Amino acid sequence: MHMLSFDVEEYFQTQAAAEGGVRVEDWATYERRLPASIEKVLAILADQDVTATFFVLGWVARHERAVVAQIAAAGHEIASHGMTHRMLGELTADEFRAELRDSRKLLEDISGKPVVGFRAPTFSITRRTAWALDVLAEELFRYDSSIFPIRHDRYGIPDAPRWIHRAIGPAGGEIVEIPPLTARAFGVNLPVGGGGYLRLLPTSLIRRAIRRAERAGQPAMIYLHPWELDPDQPVLPMTRTSRFRHRVNLSRTEPRLRDLLSRHHFSTVAAALAHATCPTTHEYAA
Ligand SMILES: [Zn+2]
Repeated sequence: MHMLSFDVEEYFQTQAAAEGGVRVEDWATYERRLPASIEKVLAILADQDVTATFFVLGWVARHERAVVAQIAAAGHEIASHGMTHRMLGELTADEFRAELRDSRKLLEDISGKPVVGFRAPTFSITRRTAWALDVLAEELFRYDSSIFPIRHDRYGIPDAPRWIHRAIGPAGGEIVEIPPLTARAFGVNLPVGGGGYLRLLPTSLIRRAIRRAERAGQPAMIYLHPWELDPDQPVLPMTRTSRFRHRVNLSRTEPRLRDLLSRHHFSTVAAALAHATCPTTHEYAA
């Protein structure tokens, strides 16, 4: 059983938008597209009878309460994506702890269920921010899905394990870590499990990576964003690289997602963890 996840945020809340000049204090002035994109996501999942984990930004919980209620009512798992979508390198440990508590409270109030999972904005648990694992463990989160085991200009720990493992933070905190799907080629890990990679790469390559996960007895973690199913979203000022990453093949997301869901069995992180074994431990140094 593989894991399907969505990072629930607006198109103007990404790191690329922030770097293009969109400020958190101006978020309320942008056109909201999330309710319509979530409708689309929920319809696709209902069509294929799939449940997923939704890592919801606290800002969304505060400003689009009905959207979160609708996701929860459809039987999906609600987890936290922080409050302000700032990368963890921009936060102190205390600020991060406050974001965890605030977002969890908002999400639990709406869903009526405990929130035990977290994904950092822009996969921003790296070597420099490994302290966040200790904070998550102290706050009694059960799992994290923020460490991408690849080399990338924004994020990644290239030698981190590729499959579910017990992560030990620099201060000894322990949490289950769920890395997004990668493929192994030419001695390096390549990202294939979601976002722009899923829109850009040949589907044969992604399917092969999932089949390899199956042969290894491991669930694959796939991630997407609701704005990736909204090709008509407004174009924001961004660098050329960011615009490519954000916008490439947006119209292909839906058919590709439907194709994946029809070929493999996906569910929530909670459901996958109930079946998965977690034999390896990895210590993340400060
Ligand atoms: Zn995000």
